Amino acid sequence: MSAVIVLLEVLPGGALSATSSGLLTAAARVGEPVALVAAPAATRAAAAAAAAELGAVRVLTADVDVDRLTVPVVDALAAAVDRERPDLVLASHAVETRDALARLAARLRLPLATDVVGVARDELGVVAQHSALGGAFTVEGAPTFGTLLATLRPGVVEGDLSAQPLVEQPIEVVASGVPSARIESFSETTAPSSRPELRGAKAVVSGGRGVGSREDFALVEQLADVLGAAVGASRAAVDAGYVPASAQVGQTGVSVSPRLYIALGISGAIQHRAGMQTAGTIVAVDKNPEAPIFEIADFGIVGDLFTVVPQLISALEAHKK
Ligand SMILES: Cc1cc2nc3c(=O)[nH]c(=O)nc-3n(C[C@H](O)[C@H](O)[C@H](O)COP(=O)(O)OP(=O)(O)OC[C@H]3O[C@@H](n4cnc5c(N)ncnc54)[C@H](O)[C@@H]3O)c2cc1C
Repeated sequence: MSAVIVLLEVLPGGALSATSSGLLTAAARVGEPVALVAAPAATRAAAAAAAAELGAVRVLTADVDVDRLTVPVVDALAAAVDRERPDLVLASHAVETRDALARLAARLRLPLATDVVGVARDELGVVAQHSALGGAFTVEGAPTFGTLLATLRPGVVEGDLSAQPLVEQPIEVVASGVPSARIESFSETTAPSSRPELRGAKAVVSGGRGVGSREDFALVEQLADVLGAAVGASRAAVDAGYVPASAQVGQTGVSVSPRLYIALGISGAIQHRAGMQTAGTIVAVDKNPEAPIFEIADFGIVGDLFTVVPQLISALEAHKK
């Protein structure tokens, strides 16, 4: 079986990003999932072990200078592609990894499919699946030449591989010398809540301009907490200062694909839908019956969110008891 290289994101402490298991599982549908762990010596061993635990059949490890942005990872990817000649290279559709794959595509002149919701194999080779027109269609695209590079939307594939014995294969990376920004310093911030991370969350509750103020956004958070969900927002809510930009869902924010997505006071502009339309079940609360969000909602409630949401919270709390 041919290799599929999976670029895994290693967090500063050596843990792998929450998207890793879904990436490896998607890779296994097409070939042999081979993880690439590009990390400094201090965290490499832990990350490689975690990759095998999540089902990587082999783990390619490369020493990279983490003080430089993206280019060292692209150098490692180029070395891995040269060594494995894979059919597919897969990474998360996250800011850093999609940057890395785009640069790799430009450097090696390979085809790139971004924000795919699945990968498969037909008689001619690897096929990338995209969600189109508000999630109404899944369209397939395939490269006409070379290794396909693809970024997978976080959360669309759930990890279900069994752990593998660790087979670590260090690879030699020749630095390309391509200029890159250098990180002079960084400070780690601790998320001020115990809510799940938006990327990869199983349930997301998002608020839009209709929520009206930063103070009233507490209602969105309250519903999220009752459901154990992550909190998201439309760009209008972010621009109005109700929530930080990290909560933005959509074309220029985070793409999510939870089992449950609840949109509160969000009209459903195409740019917002682009980031959430592949959710399993979409629930929308909006006072405008014509709001486009209802076109893709599985359950729609036309009403004032300040009337509907407190009732929803009480009903859910009563159900829990
Ligand atoms: C290049 C580009 C990129 C963009 N990227 C993104 C992106 O990543 N994510 C994103 O979200 N947007 C993005 N946008 C912006 C997008 O076009 C919309 O402007 C935005 O999504 C609107 O946010 P909204 O639905 O919260 O606000 P609105 O469109 O103003 O909708 C508010 C909704 O709340 C309802 N409402 C008001 N009060 C209540 C109430 N009390 N109870 C119930 N309902 C109520 C209204 O009926 C309305 O439907 C982008 C735009 C551009 C041009």
